[in-house]
Amino acid sequence: MMAISAQAKLNVVSTLPDFGSIAREMGGDKIDLVVLAKPTEDPHFVDARPSFVVALRNADVLIDGGAELEIGWLPPLLQNARNPKIENGKPGRVIASQGVRLLNVPANVTRAAGDVHALGNPHFTTDPIVTKAVAQHVAESFAAADPANASFYEANYRKFEASVNAKLQEWGAAMVPFKGQEVVAYHDSWPYFAHRFGVKIEIFLEPKPGIPPSPSHLAEVIEQMKAKKIKAIIVEPFQDRKVAEKVAGATGAKVVEFAQFPGGLSGTDTYVKLIDKLVGGLAAALK
Ligand SMILES: [Zn+2]
Repeated sequence: MMAISAQAKLNVVSTLPDFGSIAREMGGDKIDLVVLAKPTEDPHFVDARPSFVVALRNADVLIDGGAELEIGWLPPLLQNARNPKIENGKPGRVIASQGVRLLNVPANVTRAAGDVHALGNPHFTTDPIVTKAVAQHVAESFAAADPANASFYEANYRKFEASVNAKLQEWGAAMVPFKGQEVVAYHDSWPYFAHRFGVKIEIFLEPKPGIPPSPSHLAEVIEQMKAKKIKAIIVEPFQDRKVAEKVAGATGAKVVEFAQFPGGLSGTDTYVKLIDKLVGGLAAALK
């Protein structure tokens, strides 16, 4: 006879792989985790599969960003799942951006011309200090949903906090020589990372977040990069690397592989390893 686990695990769904990675570290073997988006997928445009609705229907806890990064695909899934436990305002709904000060909040909320950052920039887990706060929120939410294991979740948060704290100085030191340097990115995913590590990432291959690069915009970017002697273009797995390479070829800059999600690059199966790789890769390109 097969042994059946006596203890029911907490069913957790996370929309995106950064929240999923945090959930895994906080929840360990006390949770069953489903992460909807893949780490190499564009978080703004995730292909919904029927299994997503099933996972959401069975969820005790849903972790989403709450800053409209998933606005294009999550609402219809939630509607189909009809799970009152994870409705807005319920303890089973963990809004990761709660308590996070979003950067680049537009003066006028507008989704005109395809701008996908209408509430402010939703890519906040690229700052490790913000991510510690998100992890604490997740651990506390798990403890509330599963009080029998509260001390387990609390201990996992302390472990995560310590592992990030142990690295912050090293990451900071690696980036110190490049303070104030400009870097170009394909999409505006990096204001929190830039703010934390002292670089400027304010020129993008996309003319507006969510709008594909046009020849006239790229020509402008190339001009600016030459004038400012910008050395690096960061590009994520789901973005058009060929466009980045063309711009790099025209300017002498290097293309640096970046990812906002653990698992998006090889050797980045944890959050700390991801930031390690980003800092190391960028520092090498700026040298
Ligand atoms: Zn975005």
